[in-house]
Amino acid sequence: MARVRARTHDIDKAAGVLRNGGLVALPTETVYGLGANAEDPAAVSRIFQVKGRPASHPLIVHISSAEHLDDWVQDVPATARLLAEHFWPGPLTLVLRRGRRVPLEATGGLETVAVRVPDHPVALALLSAFGGGVTAPSANRFGSVSPTTADDVRAELGDAVDFVLDGGACQVGVESTIVDATGEIPTILRPGGVTHEDLEAVLGCPLAVPETSHIRVPGQHPSHYAPRAQVVLVEPEKVVAEAKVAQELGHRVGVFLPAAYADAEVEAHAVVAVPGSMGAYARGLYGFLRELDRQGCDLIIASLPAEEGLGLAIANRLRRAAGPRTIV
Ligand code: AMP
Ligand code: MG
Repeated sequence: MARVRARTHDIDKAAGVLRNGGLVALPTETVYGLGANAEDPAAVSRIFQVKGRPASHPLIVHISSAEHLDDWVQDVPATARLLAEHFWPGPLTLVLRRGRRVPLEATGGLETVAVRVPDHPVALALLSAFGGGVTAPSANRFGSVSPTTADDVRAELGDAVDFVLDGGACQVGVESTIVDATGEIPTILRPGGVTHEDLEAVLGCPLAVPETSHIRVPGQHPSHYAPRAQVVLVEPEKVVAEAKVAQELGHRVGVFLPAAYADAEVEAHAVVAVPGSMGAYARGLYGFLRELDRQGCDLIIASLPAEEGLGLAIANRLRRAAGPRTIV
């Protein structure tokens, strides 16, 4: 469980900021969010301004319990209820038909809305004290690495956010799994903290794997989650050799050293030992990218983990971190 630093006093203060149309950075088990009252269009619009995020990219509405789902959405299929019951609170976001309470500002103009119950004591305390829904994307500038500590948020957004709730380091470390649950058979739109194997086990049917599907998802473009340094992906067995070549060419190279090569001699400016456990890797991923930026690396050489379990979400984020830096 995450270390809880925020006190009752902070929670009440944060709820007051939300009521007055302000922005609160809040801890969740996935990453830190930049939250606003979901029913206040002006506050929601400020999120887009602060992040520099295109207004067409929909946000996730965070609620305190699955019991409140019907306040925010309409026409909930039985499969969606099953998933909510099974995985909430947790890193699963359900896309459903928008209820009237949700302004179009929060959905990027779509008639669907993304909803989830976060599994973090501070987030849940805030949602209960506030009483409404909190719409929150990750608390970083658009396209950059998501924050997983309160210090990351302060470093990235500073005074642009009215209040930062500190709930310690995020325990999952990558964003939620987003599932389009509007139809009878749900579709994964973005891999994340709940694995597709877990979803299939609960649903009892196979699901399409997002990396290979052609479904267009608003707000998912090739360059995202990117550090300042350029990220280059190579086969795991080539990481050490490629780092040496790049270092000799004059780059300040950061290396994500795969666990299988932990004993290798590496010539690089900075080396991150990639954890063998996918849970630990996911938890550390964004911190590693930030750390290599802090150390002044201009190039990061990494490889993809096996794309199963949490490895699928990690690979998705690494691909986007390495993606072309144009908006499509
Ligand atoms: P984040 O970018 O981490 O804040 O997560 C929000 C993401 O959820 C967006 O970038 C979209 O990809 C996805 N999302 C939110 N609402 C919807 C929706 N109504 N339909 C499809 N995807 C959505
Ligand atoms: Mg984000």
